[in-house]
Amino acid sequence: MASSKISPGMQQYLDVKKDYPDAFLLFRMGDFYELFYEDAVKAAQILEISLTSRNRNADNPIPMAGVPYHSAQQYIDTLVDLGYKVAIAEQMEDPKKAVGVVKREVVQVVTPGTVMDSTKSDSANNFLVAIDCDEQQFGLSYMDVSTGEFWVTELSDFGLVRSEIMNLKARELVVGYDLTEDERTIFTKQMNLLLSSETEQYTSPLIPSQLTPLEKQVAEKLLQYVHVTQKRELSHLQPVRHYEIKDHLQMSYSTKVSLDLLENTRTGKKHGSLYWLLDDTKTAMGMRMLRSWIDKPLINKEAILERQAIVQVFLEHFFERTDLTESLKGVYDIERLASRVSFGKANPKDLLQLGQTLAQVPVIKAILESFQEPALDSLVNQLDTLPELEELIRCAIDPEAQAVITEGNIIRTGFDEQLDNYRKVLREGTGWIAEIEAKEREASGIHNLKIDYNRKDGYYFHVTNSNLSLVPEHFFRKATLKNSERFGTAELAKIEGELLEARERSADLEYDIFMRVRTQVEHYIKRLQALAKTIATIDVLQSFAVVAETNHYVRPSFNDNNEIAIVDGRHAVVEKVMGSQEYIPNSIHFDKETSIQLITGPNMSGKSTYMRQLALTVIMAQMGAYVAAKSANIPVFDAIFTRIGAADDLISGQSTFMVEMTEANHALKRASKHSLILFDELGRGTATYDGMALAQAIIEYIYHHVQAKTMFATHYHELTSLSKELTNLVNVHVATLEKDGEVTFLHQIAEGPADKSYGIHVAKIAGLPEELLERADVILEELETNASEPPLSPTTEDNQKEKPATDTSVGEQLSLFEEPSYDKIIKTLKETDMMTLTPMEAMNLLFTLKQEL
Ligand code: ATP
Repeated sequence: MASSKISPGMQQYLDVKKDYPDAFLLFRMGDFYELFYEDAVKAAQILEISLTSRNRNADNPIPMAGVPYHSAQQYIDTLVDLGYKVAIAEQMEDPKKAVGVVKREVVQVVTPGTVMDSTKSDSANNFLVAIDCDEQQFGLSYMDVSTGEFWVTELSDFGLVRSEIMNLKARELVVGYDLTEDERTIFTKQMNLLLSSETEQYTSPLIPSQLTPLEKQVAEKLLQYVHVTQKRELSHLQPVRHYEIKDHLQMSYSTKVSLDLLENTRTGKKHGSLYWLLDDTKTAMGMRMLRSWIDKPLINKEAILERQAIVQVFLEHFFERTDLTESLKGVYDIERLASRVSFGKANPKDLLQLGQTLAQVPVIKAILESFQEPALDSLVNQLDTLPELEELIRCAIDPEAQAVITEGNIIRTGFDEQLDNYRKVLREGTGWIAEIEAKEREASGIHNLKIDYNRKDGYYFHVTNSNLSLVPEHFFRKATLKNSERFGTAELAKIEGELLEARERSADLEYDIFMRVRTQVEHYIKRLQALAKTIATIDVLQSFAVVAETNHYVRPSFNDNNEIAIVDGRHAVVEKVMGSQEYIPNSIHFDKETSIQLITGPNMSGKSTYMRQLALTVIMAQMGAYVAAKSANIPVFDAIFTRIGAADDLISGQSTFMVEMTEANHALKRASKHSLILFDELGRGTATYDGMALAQAIIEYIYHHVQAKTMFATHYHELTSLSKELTNLVNVHVATLEKDGEVTFLHQIAEGPADKSYGIHVAKIAGLPEELLERADVILEELETNASEPPLSPTTEDNQKEKPATDTSVGEQLSLFEEPSYDKIIKTLKETDMMTLTPMEAMNLLFTLKQEL
């Protein structure tokens, strides 16, 4: 567009827009925020607002759409919620006083990762993540702008970066380096992240020098991004804290998903998740902390025991705990309130909520002291009651104050002398005027003398023409009308002046006082944040106690001998979902040496539930919570790896089998002796023999190289004979009761392998046609006549040579293997070190072998 045609106002718009190409620019014009060009067209569609144009009759009318400024927040929230950025340009001077075009500037860019004032925001964290890299490592930093939390770490590979970003449920990613095409696709297409690039760094005392150069760099880029978008100093941001994923019980994102930790994977809802089970928190801060504890269970035994000790005290003192729970109900989200103060957004209602919470803290403290238990000493000592801040808010803010700060009625009487004077004038001024009126009427003898008011003349004595002769000396004329005249006196003028000043100035004065109070509150932000953490801790631990009591959980103990002894354990979430139906408890035992439990049993019998039960027990125990069992003694695990449930990774679009292999690889590479591995029917995603061969090879690898405590559920019955060779592998199965041709699943784990798979029985329950089921029975019978040993001897290569397999369910394959043309395949398989293959290479190899076959 030729610039000559553009008005100065539009030119200003274009100049501002140039700096925010990836955001909707909301351009303040009077009482509206206007959008132009593409922004207007898109916003009109998304927000369902009408699209007009600026200079309708010109050759190129400019598309325009607007939202009223007082309801703009909801439109901004909708856009940000959908993953867009919104830049807000305000008028920076009074339009009445402006010479030429009113000065406008972007005062904030609201983005999905930095939003903190949304009408839609819930209490959960909203993390903004930044990544960067050097030749060897990735740096990852994240922050919740609404609470000020700020973290940084280094990660060795991209898989970990991806998992950590998913763990954080980030919606926006700040990228400090040039992404590869693959990385960009993963972030945008698969993970649906809004990407923002940031190459500048913001040095700040929040980022100490003892971090690694990469950590420092990524944290500074994150901070830079926050500064360029928020455009203000944020006093609530906390110093960045270094963390390592190995500081907590490690679980990949897919493990957390498959264990339904924060939400039920099937429904996407809280109901049916571990979070749902454990959440009896009373505060938003407690709720956030519970989620972060579930996400990051501890590995430090002392820290776990410390939490347990407090839960135990809470359990042992029912009445005090009930009081404590009640006292938490009056607590507001002070972490977010503190941030609003720092952001300059806190209104009188916010401060009142802060004040009410502070008034509650001594109550909480007194209740904690009433337990008279040393285990609570540290909590009591940490509870900072901030009496001076509580007093400041109590004395300054009117308890009836509303959220608006410009219209007065927010400061409490008695707090400021000048304001009290104004209020006195306003309250008593009319009385004084009535007094003057009466006094002058009597003195002058004008029986109908009265004081009136209008905008032009202010207060005046109204004297009809017939009484003009009685007007006293000290009256001065203000106006002459047809039948009357208006007079003033010095005394009336003085009162009028006071009244007008009081009316005009008191709202401004209240605003100023409020700002002063808010600035004072800002000095307490660090202490408020610490207080928020302490209250959150109390809240989560009381929640653990309530949940433990309601569901009859026990305090688990920990051993250093690598033993698992859980007596009558239950899957806590399934048990609760089942309600009054009976959940069958199962004990889990792994002695020091046992490394693998091979679980066989029919479909639907409870194999996965049994495995998940162990994972949940470990997670709950390491969070410091009580567990669903009669007793539980376990080691402290360093990581949990799982391949359970539906293997489809819809996010990455990988095939079931590929996901299985990727996750198996992930576990085998990262697990240690102190990890827990749960593999459910690994290998079922491919042809029987491939699957079985891989399953066996994986079991052997774990057994010989990893030695993690492992549960391996399988339908390959042939694998159960592995226990003959692998002495530290034990077989267990889920018991069934077969009577008169009817099968009942007992959901009870028993020693030894299962004898039958009952797949056809499950098919019958599912209602498959009778004819089909009969045919399946015949085929099964034929197969069973031939079946016996496993395909490959489990241990060494020599063994395999010595013991050629002879059976037939696998026999068909084995007989083929005996033919010379299969030697090549066997050789290839033997020479292949699976652990060095990428999933793609494994797939390719399998493909080649199959081609060969
Ligand atoms: P598949 O091999 O088909 O995946 P599975 O053996 O892993 O099946 P689960 O999914 O663990 O079976 O369990 C099937 C159902 O049985 C569960 O949804 C649950 O309702 C019930 N169930 C499992 N374990 C128990 C138990 N201990 N007590 C009561 N009900 C149970």
